[in-house]
Amino acid sequence: MKSIYAPWRMEYIRGKKADGCIFCRESIRDGEFVLHDGRRAFIIMNRYPYITGHLMVAPHRHVRNIEELSLEEHCEMFELTARCVRALKEAFSPQGFNLGMNLGRAAGAGVEDHLHMHIVPRWLGDTNALSVFGEVRVISEDLMKTKETLLPHFRKYEEGVGT
Ligand SMILES: [Zn+2]
Repeated sequence: MKSIYAPWRMEYIRGKKADGCIFCRESIRDGEFVLHDGRRAFIIMNRYPYITGHLMVAPHRHVRNIEELSLEEHCEMFELTARCVRALKEAFSPQGFNLGMNLGRAAGAGVEDHLHMHIVPRWLGDTNALSVFGEVRVISEDLMKTKETLLPHFRKYEEGVGT
């Protein structure tokens, strides 16, 4: 499994060293992978997805520790997380979700200085599907297709809470 991800990991590591925090970079914030930008937090597609539909919610503020979040940031992050679940349900009908944060390198955080929630849709037996993510090119196409599918489901709720 590690060899499948090697090209991604290398690009990821180089990018991080060159450009600092990936969640703070303007090019990322305004970029094509953002599905919704709220007042205090935003939803972004994971460029290195574990599986199709892997989304992340991050606060605008560069915050490392969950206990440093304001109540408003807590609320908006959780509301946006629910929005991701709703959009993914509507678009892809997954059979389950993994929601979670990896806090600290020991817990598996790839970016440990800017906390973020992972929203990973799951299907029964989907561990086998991970092997299809072998090529950068395939993933890129897949990401854009995923975005096209998901975006209308987010736009429907743009006038809702937290915007
Ligand atoms: Zn940051």
